[in-house]
Parts: sequence; C-alpha cells; structure tokens
Amino acid sequence: MKIIDFYRKGAPVLSMEVFPPKKNYPLETIFYTLNGLKKLKPAYISVTYGAGGGNKDRTVEIASRIKKEYGIESQAHLTCIGHSKSQVSSILDELLEEDIHNVMALRGDIPQDDPDIDFSKQEYRYAWELVRDIRAKGDFGIAAAAHPEGHPECRRLSEDLEHLKKKVDMGVDFLITQLFFDNRIFYDFIEKAQKKGINCPIVPGIMPVLNSRQIRRIIYLCGASIPAKLLKLVDKYENSPLDMEKAGIEYASQQVADLIANKVPGIHLYTMNKTEQISQIVKNVGLG
Ligand code: FAD
Repeated sequence: MKIIDFYRKGAPVLSMEVFPPKKNYPLETIFYTLNGLKKLKPAYISVTYGAGGGNKDRTVEIASRIKKEYGIESQAHLTCIGHSKSQVSSILDELLEEDIHNVMALRGDIPQDDPDIDFSKQEYRYAWELVRDIRAKGDFGIAAAAHPEGHPECRRLSEDLEHLKKKVDMGVDFLITQLFFDNRIFYDFIEKAQKKGINCPIVPGIMPVLNSRQIRRIIYLCGASIPAKLLKLVDKYENSPLDMEKAGIEYASQQVADLIANKVPGIHLYTMNKTEQISQIVKNVGLG
C-alpha cells in the first residue's frame, strides 16, 4: 500500500520514526522498541538511513520486518549524499525485493563521525534529483522533507520554498516537516507553501524534548528555534531529569493536540526509539 492512501482517507494519520541501532549494537534492540510502538497502532513506521549508507542493511532489514512481522506499513528513508546513481538503483532494487514500496527521499548531511565514507562516486547534490530517479525507477510512494523555519543552508525561506516546490514537482506524494516547537511557525509555513503552489499533504514532525542535553543538539543539528516557554522548562528542570521528561511529554502533547484541532493531515512522531514516553503522548491526545 502507498502511504499517501492513508492521508487520502482524511482522519489524522499517526506515524512514527525509528532509527536503526548503531553497527556495534545488537539489531534486536530495535524490536523491543517496535513491540511497544505497535500497541499504539501507527498507520506506518519509517526507518532512518545513515547518510553515506554505512548502516544501510539495517534500514532495509528493519523496514522489511516492520512490514512482514508486525503487519505495519513501513517507509525506508534513503539519502543520496555520497551515492552514485547505480548505488541508489541497487538499493531501490533491494527495497522492491523486500516488498517495500514507500521511500522517504532525502539529501542527508555529511556525517561528522564516519571518516571512511567515500564521496568520490557522488552523483547527487539535492534531494529533488533522488525523487526524480526514484519516480523513474518504478512503483514507489515518495515522501520528502520540508523545513518550516527554512533549511539552515538556505538564506531565505522564500528561496527554500522554491526548491521545495521543485522537489514536489518531481513526484513527491507528501511532505514531513523537520521538528519545530512553535505551532505558529508551522501554520505560517503551510500558508506560504500553499501560496507557492505546493498542494500535497504536509505532515508536522514532532519530537518531544526529554532532556536538556537534547535541546542543545537539536539547535546544533537543525537550527529549530526554541520558544521562551520551552526554554524556561529546560532551565527549570536542568538538574531534575524526571521532571524535565514529564514537562517535555506535556509540551509535545499540547503541540499535537493543537495541531489536530487545526486539522493537520497527520502527526509524525520522532520517537528517538523511546516507547514509554511516546505512548504517553499518544494516550494524552487520544490518537492511535
Ligand atoms: P534538499 O531538499 O536537497 O535541500 C537541501 C538544501 O539544498 C536546502 O537548503 C535547499 O534549499 C537547497 N536546495 C535544494 N534544491 C536546490 C537547488 N535546485 N538549487 C539550490 N539549492 C537547492 N537525514 C539523514 O541522514 N537520514 C535520515 O533518515 C533523515 N531523515 C529525515 C526525515 C525528515 C522528516 C527530515 C525533515 C529530515 C531528515 N533527515 C535525515 C535530515 C536531512 O537529510 C537534512 O535536513 C538535510 O540537510 C536536508 O535534506 P533535504 O532532503 O531536505 O535536502
């Protein structure tokens, strides 16, 4: 089944994202997480892909097992940075062999912690080129990333939106956003995207802040702005991890509830492979 068909049905679609354990951790750990997430009845689960492809086999295997063993639709992420066209083509063949027909097409970022990645064969610069090639390759549902605050490398949101429009026009079915902590940013973005003629579903991506260290990493990685209300919580509970976690779950639950009240097509939860905290949010808002 193509994921876009879930969004066509109309009810807010619950989806979740997991990441494969690092190479030196047992693969099986992810299945403990998935056992918990399954109970929340997500419509689909997406599996991230380490840019450069160093952990590729795990993405494919986990996405395949989500579908076959858990009976949940899966979406495999694929990043094109550092990849040749023939590498991409053979990964897509592997996905089809595993009956995975939904791909999240991304550019990726140059990994800081993997000096062994060989960039000499790189034939992609932007995600739209990957979307074009996946569409040409065959029977795939395609999602792509949107950045409500603008991608950090792009000087202006208006320019980023031009690029986003080009990506969508190459054959994207729906978009999932980068995390954000202020829903007004998302609503403004939707308005601007629609004015640019981007008419596919745009699904908000929500990540709960569960500890104060995480927030520094988020700012570093994607530049998301942190509203004063959230900053106050992080300051208040800096030395009280359990209270911070509770407050983070509450904050994310309020964000999700407000998004649902504003008729978003779905909610995509960045689970960080955390079952209990994600279950709490889903229960708080009556999703699943
Ligand atoms: P692009 O759409 O290619 O955009 C990247 C930059 O290039 C932007 O600044 C854009 O404005 C610019 N640009 C695009 N087209 C043009 C053009 N024609 N001319 C000039 N400039 C242009 N990363 C991973 O490594 N693995 C994952 O699994 C993963 N999953 C993600 C899931 C979601 C939902 C999101 C939101 C992000 C994810 N990322 C993942 C992170 C993502 O790879 C980074 O945000 C990356 O920096 C941008 O990827 P993109 O696909 O948006 O790139």
